[in-house]
Amino acid sequence: MNEQLLTALTDILGPKGVVAPGPDMEGYLEESRDLYRGEALAVAKPATTDEVAAVVRLCAQSGLPIVPQGGNTGLVGGAVAEGGVILSTERLNRIRDTDPLNMTMTVEAGVILQNVQQAADAADCFFPLSLAAEGTCRIGGNIATNAGGTAVLRYGNTRELVLGLEVVTADGEVWNGLKGLRKDNTGYDLKQLFIGSEGTLGVITAAVIKLFPKPRARATALAACPDLDSLMKLFDIARTRAGDSLTAFEMMARFAVEVATTHMEGLRDPFEQSHSWYALLELTSSRPDDALDDLLETVLGEAFEAEWVADAVIASSLTQVEELWRLRESISEAQKHEGGSIKHDVSVPVSKVAHFIMRAMDLVGEALPGIRPCPFGHIGDGNIHFNLTQPEAMDKSAFLDQWEAMNRIVHDLVVDLGGSISAEHGIGKLKRAELAHYAPEIEIRMMRAIKAALDPNNIMNPGKVV
Ligand code: FAD
Repeated sequence: MNEQLLTALTDILGPKGVVAPGPDMEGYLEESRDLYRGEALAVAKPATTDEVAAVVRLCAQSGLPIVPQGGNTGLVGGAVAEGGVILSTERLNRIRDTDPLNMTMTVEAGVILQNVQQAADAADCFFPLSLAAEGTCRIGGNIATNAGGTAVLRYGNTRELVLGLEVVTADGEVWNGLKGLRKDNTGYDLKQLFIGSEGTLGVITAAVIKLFPKPRARATALAACPDLDSLMKLFDIARTRAGDSLTAFEMMARFAVEVATTHMEGLRDPFEQSHSWYALLELTSSRPDDALDDLLETVLGEAFEAEWVADAVIASSLTQVEELWRLRESISEAQKHEGGSIKHDVSVPVSKVAHFIMRAMDLVGEALPGIRPCPFGHIGDGNIHFNLTQPEAMDKSAFLDQWEAMNRIVHDLVVDLGGSISAEHGIGKLKRAELAHYAPEIEIRMMRAIKAALDPNNIMNPGKVV
């Protein structure tokens, strides 16, 4: 069977387009978090939409599962194969068109996010999706996961950044929905079904994405706050004073900063004293003359007067801006040096963020004394990465055995507060049981009906999401 499959794939894609089981396949079988290891009969690397369609038809005829894979930076096991064919989009990597007047760009699914950003920049425009994995993740993966990131506060999730899609359906047909329209009310908005569907409904091969005026002024600051209520008051006043110039508002707990500065080379705590909570604020404007540093100083000054901020630093150079962002973006990586982590990517209404974090910290501490909560996240849009680091003296695997118990504590609280158990990373394999546990039965039924309608033979990324 496998020889036949490899020959058929090679006939479609040529030798460059096929990876057989063996050392070259390794990188496609594991995701960065080491939670899962997959297996596959082959990796197919089509370079055109027609080649994707031919591969999907081949798999459909043989009833073989297909697992679409972009940069493989997902954190929930969504691109991990359990047999079948991994369809990597890495060779589907052209920018087909840039239209600065329409403020759109048509990109193939395998373009690395950073290359999308650079191409927008070269056209004197801006593509705002930004996340720590941007040098590796691919735009098709971003769309398939409805990625969030650091600029959601101002520009929205990936869902808000996509105007049109090209998709190869589960039976190998090509749907060309590559419209670059801001207004289009012709029936159901089909692209929205595929955005965030994590490869379970079809293969996204290209997209028309929205561009924006380029930011030409920027001001970035790190503020230290005595408590979370103060940090949220700082957020409120920053939003009121800066309006839509407030592009990012990120939060880090003291432990997160300690972990990052201890384990990541070249990172340092910008303050002499330690503080309980930190906010990273960024203002941007497309008007070069906007005095954003002054505005930021005003905001921080008011917050200082009110004692919501104990200390603050405004970046005075691009290097300093990058240092502040690296502090925030290194936390997950740095956490690995402290042993096992149980991670929760959750959201609650912004008005409940402070309550959620304080209550959740109490609850997990009562359940497992010595546990070290490491919360951080995109607090301006209510998204908290409520990560838990193992107690210092505990065995790592004994700690990871607590995953389900911790999930129940954290997710019960999230749901009580009207929140979501997956804010931006999706469901994949990791949260499938959690989705089944918390979602109303009618929601699961509707999702299953959509899946059955678009993929009746269940070959698109089976075992994921629903
Ligand atoms: P993959 O991991 O390859 O795939 C993810 C899912 O999408 C899988 O289910 C896969 O089957 C499906 N898929 C991939 N390509 C296609 C396609 N063309 N058609 C159909 N289905 C497809 N996520 C955020 O949202 N915000 C963050 O701030 C963020 N920060 C991160 C930081 C780090 C350090 C890391 C490692 C990850 C982070 N992530 C974040 C998670 C991850 O980067 C995103 O989910 C990203 O969008 C995944 O893109 P990818 O190309 O790597 O997709």
